[in-house]
Amino acid sequence: MGYQGPYTCQACGNTFESRAGGGFLFIEYRCVNCDAIKTVKSNRRVPSSEYVPPTAAEIGVCEQCGGELKSDLQPMCPACKSRDVKESGGRAIRYD
Ligand SMILES: [Zn+2]
Ligand SMILES: [Zn+2]
Repeated sequence: MGYQGPYTCQACGNTFESRAGGGFLFIEYRCVNCDAIKTVKSNRRVPSSEYVPPTAAEIGVCEQCGGELKSDLQPMCPACKSRDVKESGGRAIRYD
């Protein structure tokens, strides 16, 4: 489910390495401010009717800057801070 590899920023053309997606047993949350990634354990190998997402207390806030964490953000371009990026393939690793 996860992707790790090069991304291309559509705002400035920068290429950078990042990852996104999480896995069956964890979810990756990203800080809205600084793009730090926090991994929260969550068993998604269950029927969706039985799935219980992590609570706000389990998710917490960014350890770097105290910012809000979200699971549905695209990686942030380190050059211009845009999240208008896309996977550029190549040496990508898919992981779960
Ligand atoms: Zn950029
Ligand atoms: Zn942060």
